[in-house]
Amino acid sequence: MRIQLLPSTFDAQGVATLEQRLTCFLIDDCVAVDAGSIAIALTNEQRSKVKDIIVTHPHMDHIASLPIFIDDLYPTLKQPMRVHATEEVIGLLERDVFNWNVYPRFSELKNSYGPVMEYVPIPIGKQFPVAHLMVVAVPVNHIVPTVGLVVSDGRKSVAFSSDTAETEEFWKIVNEMKDLDALLIEASFPDRMSKLAEVSRHFTPASLDQELKKLTHNGLDIMTVHLKPSYRDEIIEQLKALNIPKLSVMEPGRVYEW
Ligand SMILES: [Zn+2]
Ligand SMILES: [Zn+2]
Repeated sequence: MRIQLLPSTFDAQGVATLEQRLTCFLIDDCVAVDAGSIAIALTNEQRSKVKDIIVTHPHMDHIASLPIFIDDLYPTLKQPMRVHATEEVIGLLERDVFNWNVYPRFSELKNSYGPVMEYVPIPIGKQFPVAHLMVVAVPVNHIVPTVGLVVSDGRKSVAFSSDTAETEEFWKIVNEMKDLDALLIEASFPDRMSKLAEVSRHFTPASLDQELKKLTHNGLDIMTVHLKPSYRDEIIEQLKALNIPKLSVMEPGRVYEW
């Protein structure tokens, strides 16, 4: 399974920068998990392949360019873009984003081939297919309805925490997996901002360290993501000091393979 954390910003030469401002993971060039930077960081080839987008929650950093992505593809879509999300999140996207004010309600619009966007409600705690992948979604602990995911291609499995503070159900499905190859988990704030992390339901390196004690798998890659750009260096220092084997910071733009 190939996974790329799409870049959010580029320098004056067009080279991807390491700061992560938006969240969008691209799996095997065709399935997106969240859509923060989906309209700004895909190659033309990737753009033509993505047909499924899983939205974990409706925060702006996770959906910022989703409307623009569908807008860009509007005339060329021969099948609707499938947006997979819980009923709750679909309701929020329809109410707050695709509401005719912020952007058109694409789920009601057609091009010359037919509908351009279709919602696919995802079940909780039960496997469902997305393209060639099988996915399980469970609620995590964030300030809006949010799911964490475990994604398998039949050979490899990767877990995505999405945005969360300490949580239980996610670890239950993660630990139940026979094999797990990688865990992509958030570390948003430095330790000195633990109060803000607590109220906004995010991890700091210290709270992540505690949380990882719930993980029963050994030897898998632990990739930290969602480091707030303003505190990136400080968070990295603190993550390193944890001395957790195979824990690293996921680099935007780089393709990881498991
Ligand atoms: Zn969030
Ligand atoms: Zn976020």
